[in-house]
Amino acid sequence: MADKNPSDPHGFKRRGVLFVLSSPSGAGKSTIARKLLASDDGLSMSVSATTRPIRPGEQDGVDYHFVDLEKFREMATNHEFLEWAHVFDNRYGTPRAPVEEMLSAGRDVLFDIDWQGAQQLYQLAGGDVVRVFILPPSMVELERRLRGRGTDSDEVIDRRMARAAGEIAHWDSYDYVLVNDDAEQCFEKVRTILQAERLKRSRQTGLIGFIRKLQS
Ligand code: ADP
Ligand code: 5GP
Repeated sequence: MADKNPSDPHGFKRRGVLFVLSSPSGAGKSTIARKLLASDDGLSMSVSATTRPIRPGEQDGVDYHFVDLEKFREMATNHEFLEWAHVFDNRYGTPRAPVEEMLSAGRDVLFDIDWQGAQQLYQLAGGDVVRVFILPPSMVELERRLRGRGTDSDEVIDRRMARAAGEIAHWDSYDYVLVNDDAEQCFEKVRTILQAERLKRSRQTGLIGFIRKLQS
């Protein structure tokens, strides 16, 4: 599914990385995703479609494509999603075409999706997918962050907290598991993971030509 990726370290072609960040809501994955995108010009965000109502401060087409249920169903029926899932009584899905375009353009793609999406993407693209799970330092801190964000009603926060333990239960289907205590340190770890994954031999499809030249 991934296309050739003209990039580091010596201009070798390589396969694009599908880099997945998941966490219980409020653990800080959007904050890490924002920092990662700002610090890395080879990475693009996959913007999901969702039926959930827009939050204050969110922008349609930037944070999500906000669509109604009818439109979402139509997209699912037309196979426009790489994956989709029910989360918190709403539907969320990853539009296929932009991801394919980004990979074709030689970019890596960042996904902020839940464990169901990570599982579906892995079934589809296997070794091109890198899955990172972010844990909060404690459940008390998770609730503090959800309340501190100031974007959800008490009822929505209670539902997110009620689901958090169930999401955390999927920690062992991820390649990397990090505790987001200090935001900067956690971000640096995520960045290191991405850089190391890009350097994996199995992704460096252009390496063989270079090796042959070295040997000739
Ligand atoms: P998620 O995307 O996982 O739902 P967010 O990135 O929106 O979580 O973070 C939830 C809230 O917690 C935000 O207000 C954010 O500023 C704050 N936050 C994120 N990471 C940390 C951290 N390491 N320490 C303290 N607060 C944090
Ligand atoms: P939120 O409503 O807080 O933005 O997101 C709720 C949950 O939905 C988060 O766990 C987020 O990772 C997940 N999510 C967002 N977009 C997608 C998507 O396209 N597919 C899947 N499976 N989950 C998503």
